[in-house]
Order: sequence, then structure tokens, then C-alpha cells
Amino acid sequence: MIVPAPPPGAKAPSITGVPFGTTRDGREAMLFTLVNAGGMRVDITNYGALIVRLLCRDRSGRLDDVVLGYDSLEAYLGDSQYFGALVGRFGNRIARGTFTLDGATFTLATNNKPNGIPCALHGGSVGFNKVLWDATPLLVGDAAGLRLHYVSADGEEGYPGRLEVTVHYWLTHGNELRVVYEAATDKATPVNLTQHSYFNLKGGGGGDILGHRVTINASRYTPVDAGLIPTGELASVAGTPFDFRTEHAVGERIGAPDRQLGIGNGYDHNWVLDRGGPGPVLAATVCEPTTGRLLEVWTDEPGVQFYSGNFLDGTNVGKGGHPYPFRGGLCMETQHFPDSPNHPAFPGTILRPGGKYETSTVFRFSAR
Ligand code: BGC
Repeated sequence: MIVPAPPPGAKAPSITGVPFGTTRDGREAMLFTLVNAGGMRVDITNYGALIVRLLCRDRSGRLDDVVLGYDSLEAYLGDSQYFGALVGRFGNRIARGTFTLDGATFTLATNNKPNGIPCALHGGSVGFNKVLWDATPLLVGDAAGLRLHYVSADGEEGYPGRLEVTVHYWLTHGNELRVVYEAATDKATPVNLTQHSYFNLKGGGGGDILGHRVTINASRYTPVDAGLIPTGELASVAGTPFDFRTEHAVGERIGAPDRQLGIGNGYDHNWVLDRGGPGPVLAATVCEPTTGRLLEVWTDEPGVQFYSGNFLDGTNVGKGGHPYPFRGGLCMETQHFPDSPNHPAFPGTILRPGGKYETSTVFRFSAR
């Protein structure tokens, strides 16, 4: 499918598409470019519903790419860092790759082993970030959009139920990237979809994110055990390096002698968002002081995983030949809490036949 290019200098939103490469099973992936009237741009491929580029302006109006990723499909096929990924069927970890539901025990593909302890991470070996989605470009009002659709077979990666998933990405006039997730199933199954983009608001994949200034609207977080699985406790952030209720640079306390920071080798935890009820709340802000770029993350989810890129080590060579260093990007993954299927006290993640999974997250970009 080729979508015609917009006229040069167009001031209207546009969406165009070009071939991006061929998957291992010989199917063609596309790379779509969404541009808004102000020139903000997002490139998304229907392989893995991945965000490949996101160009937004700094305080002087300069556009730069603020997400980590690769130039080629080939590099994404081998990626294990989840750059730009749409994560599912279950974002983050499920302990030992097993859970029981309605009396039956399910065994998932285990694909991760923090500190030698196996678990299922981000949907398994072939999660939603490793499949080809059907794509439909959209232009509605002043927004450019992409509809992505995937049907996950009953039993895929060990999960029960045929899950039909639709994700819409919308780039709005207000410099927002809206991600709208929907799913329906024919058998009860856990579902927890998220967006795993790594941001480096300096642009161009430059350096680490320790100078980025973060707020997280959360009085509690979920501490983890040695396998990065929540212990079940909702711990207060007060008086700890996890208190981002006021703005702090990522690097300010990341080296503090804190057991939880030790387990994660930095921040790799789920925060329990403070909210008065359902609906969107401002979950987190990220500001990069030298460029002034500001990211606001709004969501109707109960949690956000703030991951400070602690598993990056310079071996992933990204766009433009840049190696991504330790803590070279940060993720704000809006989500239900990790390992929820094994924690009945956590907000529920089980979707049942006849029910509808619906959630949305907005990444809003500006500069200050
Ligand atoms: C997890 C990290 C993991 C990373 C993979 C994050 O969501 O919390 O522990 O290494 O995803 O890129």
C-alpha cells in the first residue's frame, strides 16, 4: 500500500507511507509518516506498531528526533530493547511466566531472567512488537492518524483466547500523540497494552538522560523482588528517591544507596498514579533543560513504569549510527501494574468475552 506524498510545504496534516522492508516470513512492512500543521512528525511502522521517529520542536523552534530506534526494519527484527514498541499482550512481567485464571493454570513463554529468575516479559518471545499489523492511514479534521489492527490467536505465547486488538495513533494539531487501545476476546485473558518508546528530549539520541527533569503524579509505587516482580506492597514514596511529586533530575538520586534502586540498577518500577476517579490524569512530565523540550504524559491507566534505560550499554547502534549509552533514553510506560494476574489486590487486567478493553494515553510535546 503506497499513500501519496503531501504537496511540498503543505500546512495541513498529512500521512504518507513507504515500504520499510521485508519480514522474515516475506511480508512487506510499511513506514508511515504523520505530520501536523506545525511540522511535528511521527514515523510509525506497522511492524510491531513501532514508533521509529518523533520530531518535535525545542524552545528555539528546532525540530529534532526525540525517540531511540533504528533506521532499518532489519535492526528492529533483532531488537530486544523494545525501542518504540507497542507492547502486548501483557506489558511488563508475569512471575515465572505463569498465572491461574478461573481455576486453570496457564504457562507462558518465558523470555527474560532478571538476576537469573525467569519470567514472561512484554508478551513473550513474539510479542505484539514482533508481528505485522494491518494498517489504515486516516485524516480526520486537523489530525493525522494510523489505525493498526492485529488478531492474536488463541494460545499465542501461551495466552488464552483469540484477542482482536486495534490501536490508533493520532497526531493532533496540539502537538499530541494520542494512543488509543481497544481489544476484545473470545475467552478470559489478561490484557495490558503499553507504548515502550524511549525518549531522549535532547534529540538525535545524544548522551544520557540523567539531566532530564521528571515529575510523577504518584504517592506510592510497587517495590519489586530480585526478579523485578512486584512484592504486592504499595509503598509510600515519601522520603525516598522514588518521590517525584516535585520535579527532580533523573540523575539526582539514582545512585542513592537504596535497595530498590539497587535491584533495578536505577529506576525500573511501577508508580501508582494518584487519581480521584477514572479518566485521564497527568501521570508524568519530563523536561530537558538545555533544549526546553517538555513531554507531558496523560493516561486513564492506574500506573506508569518509569524505566531509566538501565539495560542499555552502548551495544545497540541506533539511527544515524549512534550507539545508545547506559541510560541513553527513558520510558514512561502507562499500564496496569506488572504481574497483576498474580496479584488479586491490584486493579484487574482480565478481559472477558463480551467486555471491551479500552484505554488511551497522550504524549503532549511543548517547550519551555
Ligand atoms: C522493563 C525493564 C525492561 C525493559 C525492556 C521495561 O518495561 O521494566 O525491566 O528491561 O522494559 O526494554
